[in-house]
Amino acid sequence: MPLDLPPPEAFRSVVGQYQVRKSAQQAQTQPESSDTSNIPSDHLQIQHKPLLPPAGIYLQSMAQVEQILQELVQSAFPELVKEKLVLQPLQSRDVFFQSNFKPLSVLSQKPVYVIQVNPALFERQLPLPAARAILAHELAHTLDYHRHGLGGLAKVGWQVLFHNQHYEYRTDLQAIARGFGEGLIAYREWVYQQIPAADLAKKQKTYYQPAQIRQLMHLWEQAQAAGQAKSTLQNWLKAPPFLP
Ligand SMILES: [Zn+2]
Repeated sequence: MPLDLPPPEAFRSVVGQYQVRKSAQQAQTQPESSDTSNIPSDHLQIQHKPLLPPAGIYLQSMAQVEQILQELVQSAFPELVKEKLVLQPLQSRDVFFQSNFKPLSVLSQKPVYVIQVNPALFERQLPLPAARAILAHELAHTLDYHRHGLGGLAKVGWQVLFHNQHYEYRTDLQAIARGFGEGLIAYREWVYQQIPAADLAKKQKTYYQPAQIRQLMHLWEQAQAAGQAKSTLQNWLKAPPFLP
């Protein structure tokens, strides 16, 4: 599915749905008035219904992933606006999102970058802000492939094989610097609950953990306030904080 022009109204409708549901739930949790005689009968019926499932606050479909990707490219990764990105399903027990490229396409003028998403997660209540943040992490990989070109892709491959933690830390840092720290914390908290215990330690080692992301967000705010955002990010990418 090529990501052509964004349909911003489609993305807004997801956000709108969330806000509508949220206010409906807030209305339901208001303390009940002792006198309900003036409330129309259809309103009373709503009061007695169980809480609606919170549709719209969790990632639920590939179509929704595509909408979020389009919105993210426009708002946070303008470098990728003209690039060809496709979305593909991925089957794995512990990987839910992955960034890749079509190998032969890197030989052509127009490389095809691939974002893979595991459809199993649609049954697992991944909050939308967490989904946005991990998709930003994946787009940071895409941007890395794009910036390095063909020669660099071999280097990226080498880094992935031999310096996985270093490479994933760098990718997390780019997502944090683009404002996705809070969502990334939510994603890591979610993913720790989803994967087999045997895979947890590796996951915790390869990517920044919530407390580390919190500290990095704080440092990033300080760097921005001091007008040192650019040099701080450059230094971080050279030597990611918290590497052992
Ligand atoms: Zn990654």
